[in-house]
Amino acid sequence: MEIALSGEQTTPSSSRIRILLVGGSAEAASALRATLDRAKAMEFEIIHAQRLAQALALPHAREADVMLLHVEESDLPRLSALTQARLSAPLIPVVVLSEIDDEAIALRALQNGARGYLVTSEINPRLLVTTLGVALESHRMTLQLNSARERARHLATHDQLTGLANRSLFQDRLSQAVSAARRGRQKLAVLFVNLDGFKTINDTLGHAVGDGLLRGIARRFSSCLRETDTAARLGGDEFAVLLTNLSNELDGATVARKLLHVLGQPLQFRRQSTSIRCSIGIATFPRDASDAEELVKKADTATYHAKERGGSRFEFYTEDMNAAIQRRVALEERLRTALDDKQLVLHYQPQFDLTRGRIIGAEALLRWQHPELGLVSPSHFLSMAEETGLIVPIGDWVLRTACEQNAIWNRAEHHGLRVSVNVSSQQFLEVGFANVVRRTLEESGLAPVSLELEITESSLLRDVEITVNTLRSLKDLGVRLAIDDFGTGYSALAYLKRLPIDVLKIDKSFVRALTTDPADATITEAIVQLASGLNLTTIAEGVETLEQLLLLGSYGCNRMQGYLFGKPVPAQIFEQWLADPPFRWVQGQTQEATAE
Ligand code: C2E
Ligand code: MG
Ligand code: MG
Repeated sequence: MEIALSGEQTTPSSSRIRILLVGGSAEAASALRATLDRAKAMEFEIIHAQRLAQALALPHAREADVMLLHVEESDLPRLSALTQARLSAPLIPVVVLSEIDDEAIALRALQNGARGYLVTSEINPRLLVTTLGVALESHRMTLQLNSARERARHLATHDQLTGLANRSLFQDRLSQAVSAARRGRQKLAVLFVNLDGFKTINDTLGHAVGDGLLRGIARRFSSCLRETDTAARLGGDEFAVLLTNLSNELDGATVARKLLHVLGQPLQFRRQSTSIRCSIGIATFPRDASDAEELVKKADTATYHAKERGGSRFEFYTEDMNAAIQRRVALEERLRTALDDKQLVLHYQPQFDLTRGRIIGAEALLRWQHPELGLVSPSHFLSMAEETGLIVPIGDWVLRTACEQNAIWNRAEHHGLRVSVNVSSQQFLEVGFANVVRRTLEESGLAPVSLELEITESSLLRDVEITVNTLRSLKDLGVRLAIDDFGTGYSALAYLKRLPIDVLKIDKSFVRALTTDPADATITEAIVQLASGLNLTTIAEGVETLEQLLLLGSYGCNRMQGYLFGKPVPAQIFEQWLADPPFRWVQGQTQEATAE
């Protein structure tokens, strides 16, 4: 092997062009160096070896800017040395050096990927420099073009936020995988992963936190998947996973379990720690579907069911689910006309004051008197009403009906009786909601103090600016404002001081275990104390037993609502209860309390 290095320079230098000279004699190499020395426009450094493999093994050879490849006359017809060089060092542009001056051969060399063709006898400094310059420049442009193409391809097929495959790439891969699985009689599974409560996080903690969370979640997918699996973000908080070549349909469950565990670990973002739970739906090929579109639909259906069952779980698709979806679609159709068809009714549940020993108000609770299904509770149709936007006209109707009813009671002998109306977040965030309330009060003739609006914590935190303005306008009207289900949301206590709230309703989940779970008892007592410190009234929800009543009373919570005092009932029955309460309580009494 013969090595000729120009000068002592062996380390790379950015202004110097490093030439890897392959083949040719030592004399030819020296002649070339002499020619380059005469070229003033550029500085060169030559690394020379007889054979390609030897040349590429030399220090810094792989970082060469250009290769001058001496092609023997015998190799010119096949140009195998050129092919070999391009394969071994694809990132280095190659200029062919040859003794033969033949245009056809030169053209073929260029067609085979050479960036230039030099005839040794014709070489002069100008020709050498321009050929090398053109080779370098054209190679650089090709690389740029390739990387731009690669970027464009990546953008078109990947989600920008998380870098995961996007919907279109997922669908492509799924279609290919289904075809391959059909041919090879293999099984595959599609997992749909939907984050639970992500909208609330986005709304309350802001989009930057939401985005950070999505990125963090996306990174965790890879730790649960094999190289051959595909994880994609389909949009929003919806992810999908494609598992191919499964030995068993239940493999989907193993991955789902892993995902639930890994995605559920707390995520740190901007010094906030958040845990995310998710619902996963699984559909498998060929059991559940025979094509890609059907698989996706069924995985989606299964996810919906996982969510319906409380989230933080996975569900395999079953035929029953499909029937349930169809029932839901039918129900949605009926809900659209329920208001006009006068199928909605309000029931009233007493709110009891221990210190006065009597009913002081009623919570108006919505019911749907469905012609076939009977009395449907709001948990079965409220989310549907929210998704379809029907909640706004329905909510207006509830407000009007409750105010009109309470105005009648107030005009009769129940002066001062208060009615509580639940307000959904959509309704609350509607522009002009406070005006709707003002008009309803005027038209019904109900005194504003006799109306209490119940708003959940998460709706309050959804858009703080609108919230503060609306609450102030409502407060100016003179209505009372309550936070419903307190303790189940973010319990962002800092807001309580800033917002003109009058009442905290302690969620029934705390009250339920009050006498059995010391932690719930501690939380409840702390909420009552906190409220009293902020001059807020507390109402405990879901009080069912005398023990709960006594414990709550001992904490200083004297207003209560629950089956102990009476279930939600139609207006006529509630009216009878006002005259003859089903539950009697005398201050100091412990034993004789009875509910009918
Ligand atoms: P909420 O406002 O927290 O209402 C209390 C729920 O607890 C009611 O369920 C009530 O029947 C139930 N409840 C009352 N006492 C007890 C008890 O002692 N034990 C148990 N286990 N449960 C008790 P309901 O009527 O099914 O309403 C569920 C939710 O639907 C309500 O929770 C409220 O968030 C929503 N909702 C009801 N009516 C309306 C409405 O007109 N508009 C809006 N936006 N939401 C409504
Ligand atoms: Mg309520
Ligand atoms: Mg509640």
